[in-house]
Amino acid sequence: MGHAASILTDDTPIFQISDKNPNFADLGVLGSMELLDTMGDDLSIVNAARVSYASESNEFDAERDKKLVKFLAKHKHWTPFEQNSIKFRVKCPIYIARQWMKHRCWVFNEISARYTIFDNTVYKPDDFRKQAVRNKQASDADSGDINQELASEIYDQATKTAIDSYNKLLELGVCREQARGVLPVGSHTEFITTVNLRNYMHWYMLRAPKDAQWEIQQYAHASIELVKQKFPVAIECFYELQAEASTDAEQLKAMKNSLKNN
Ligand SMILES: Cc1cc2nc3c(=O)[nH]c(=O)nc-3n(C[C@H](O)[C@H](O)[C@H](O)COP(=O)(O)OP(=O)(O)OC[C@H]3O[C@@H](n4cnc5c(N)ncnc54)[C@H](O)[C@@H]3O)c2cc1C
Repeated sequence: MGHAASILTDDTPIFQISDKNPNFADLGVLGSMELLDTMGDDLSIVNAARVSYASESNEFDAERDKKLVKFLAKHKHWTPFEQNSIKFRVKCPIYIARQWMKHRCWVFNEISARYTIFDNTVYKPDDFRKQAVRNKQASDADSGDINQELASEIYDQATKTAIDSYNKLLELGVCREQARGVLPVGSHTEFITTVNLRNYMHWYMLRAPKDAQWEIQQYAHASIELVKQKFPVAIECFYELQAEASTDAEQLKAMKNSLKNN
């Protein structure tokens, strides 16, 4: 793969949208993400809201309708966003799939290692990150004094042992559903998942920030590029509201600090 799943201090996301398929994001050694299908668009958001007034628009009005989309999101009138669906095919390490599947408003169908033989691909990070000191569950962007070469060697050795053992168990006649027990959680899995636009944004806001695991952040960044193609105004409004909320929070903090100091 051309691009690395590495620690990028400049925060550049690693995904690349395919030249051949604008709905496909290649995440290199990490996996991939494809937008399979969508239901609805920016217009269906405003029309879902306008049914309250027995009215409907045939075309999206860039100014008036954008204002309405933003108003709906700002005032948490979420159901018009829930009328839209997004379907992805995702290839990712099992431990990222586990984080994803904590989100109960997504529907999942996953490849089964009971029905299929594991294809032997295990995610191997290009760089090994240090454990963060203050945040127990996070890692540190600075790989610091980790012996990358040795870490890589240990990782490869463990992966090879696990895959060899899996294959040997199958050769012995052990069933797939038991043999898979020796596979690492870094093994790739694949699933198809559907979510509505409201819950997609909820997921994005939890998984794109820096306190989420770096690997799942990459899927969040890739996904929004894909979703933006179908819901450009809705995504723009979410971005604007996020920016406004963080400015409000900063202003509130500054106000509190100035009160403390007085
Ligand atoms: C940085 C980070 C670290 C995390 N660490 C851990 C961890 O260490 N261990 C762990 O187990 N999990 C962890 N999680 C997962 C977390 O606890 C949530 O399970 C996950 O983020 C899904 O969030 P959610 O419930 O808001 O989303 P969803 O399940 O997608 O639900 C969306 C929204 O629907 C509503 N909803 C859905 N189901 C219900 C319900 N039954 N009752 C009421 N409201 C509901 C809520 O408003 C919810 O926010 C972590 C998540 C993040 C982002």
